[in-house]
Amino acid sequence: MGRIVILGGGESGAGAAVLAKIQGFDVFLSDMSEIKPQYREMLDKYSILWEEKQHTLEKILNADQIIKSPGIPDNAPLIKKLKAQGTPVISEIEFAGRYTKAKMICITGSNGKTTVTSLIYHILKNAGLNVGLAGNIGNSLAFQVATKSFEYYVVELSSFQLDGMTEFKADVAILLNITPDHLDRYDYNFQNYVDSKFRITQNQTDQDAFIFWENDPVIKKEVEKRKISASLYPFALEKSEKSKAFIEKDDLVIKTLKTLFTMPVSELALKGMHNTYNSMAAGLAASIVHVKKENIRQSLQDFQGVEHRLEYVATVRNVIFINDSKATNVNSCWYALQSMKTPVVLILGGTDKGNNYSEIEELVRNNVTGLIFLGTNNEPLHKFFDGKKKNIIDVRSMEDAVKEAYRIASPGDTVLLSPCCASFDLFENYEDRGRQFKTNVRNL
Ligand code: ADP
Repeated sequence: MGRIVILGGGESGAGAAVLAKIQGFDVFLSDMSEIKPQYREMLDKYSILWEEKQHTLEKILNADQIIKSPGIPDNAPLIKKLKAQGTPVISEIEFAGRYTKAKMICITGSNGKTTVTSLIYHILKNAGLNVGLAGNIGNSLAFQVATKSFEYYVVELSSFQLDGMTEFKADVAILLNITPDHLDRYDYNFQNYVDSKFRITQNQTDQDAFIFWENDPVIKKEVEKRKISASLYPFALEKSEKSKAFIEKDDLVIKTLKTLFTMPVSELALKGMHNTYNSMAAGLAASIVHVKKENIRQSLQDFQGVEHRLEYVATVRNVIFINDSKATNVNSCWYALQSMKTPVVLILGGTDKGNNYSEIEELVRNNVTGLIFLGTNNEPLHKFFDGKKKNIIDVRSMEDAVKEAYRIASPGDTVLLSPCCASFDLFENYEDRGRQFKTNVRNL
């Protein structure tokens, strides 16, 4: 059957190893870092050979196929070497897709992936479909394909996963939006990132569906330029001739061949303009797989939201605290600022991925009373905001960020953590950052 080597022993790597083993391949997993105990146990349970803290070249270069963790960049020396010798390098999702006939509902975009993926899963599950949740959330697709028998999967796809996909097909593909992100991994060339996102439509046929935000300038241009075979399901706030979901007289409307669905926007569980888009995309996907209207309505109404995404934390002496730690790029911060109903003290900063802050400049000028820069290197922020805003404070811990924000906030203000940046300089990840924020708010 051939030899498969898996690089990276996290959730997706360990899952891919289990699936490869079950499919009868000669499997080896190698990770440059330490492998978490839960994954070591999983590998041992399935008698899979593995190594950590090293890459033994002779055990890797002899692979027939490589499954690479999305965390490893394409320009890592080992990957370059493998590609140069002609070894196929694929992603875990690509591999898993080869061993299941389940219908794939796949979600990508620069922002909103987790929210929309969770929302679609919620709708389908409540409607009684035999559905699994995969991708960046929960168990890897490969592990579920190896051990479960779902008829549908709702799969969150990052651009890094899409990069390693060639034959995989999404039955329903969703592209929420495209704004610059992760440019450090795309040679600082935006088009490379755009091409990566559009891989979600590759291999689709006219039996498949492509849901996308009609008014995203980048997506719009690409859809016109490319020949997309799938049926198109554009959504927009304002209806055009082509829109399949839109807002009309305060109602969310979904119009597909078989469905005409309406529901007051005020009844949607997720608030804010960006979340209205998210509800449209999810509602479209659900109606395409024939979920009944009453099920869609119920689930759009009772969805609980996802932690660290515009999450209300507490009100302390009339100052509201909101945790949007997952806002790791400028665009998601724009949506957060745009949905605020009071003056804001904004906490931002972290690992800057080549950000351009001009997108939020106007909102910051008009509605932000103070800026707290939370990072080990606040230079890029100072470069942009100095002279534009008076109230700027540098901090290096979440404790100080919350204290300072609270000190300068006036009653009625909102303190918003929406950092525009990754968290790895001061925190383990964005969850850690969000949790530290909540703990410090609750200690005020
Ligand atoms: P992703 O998984 O793509 O990172 P999330 O659902 O985790 O997306 O949300 C990330 C951030 O983007 C949060 O700050 C959230 O409030 C914001 N956001 C959610 N949906 C959208 C959208 N459709 N457009 C822009 N920003 C969004």
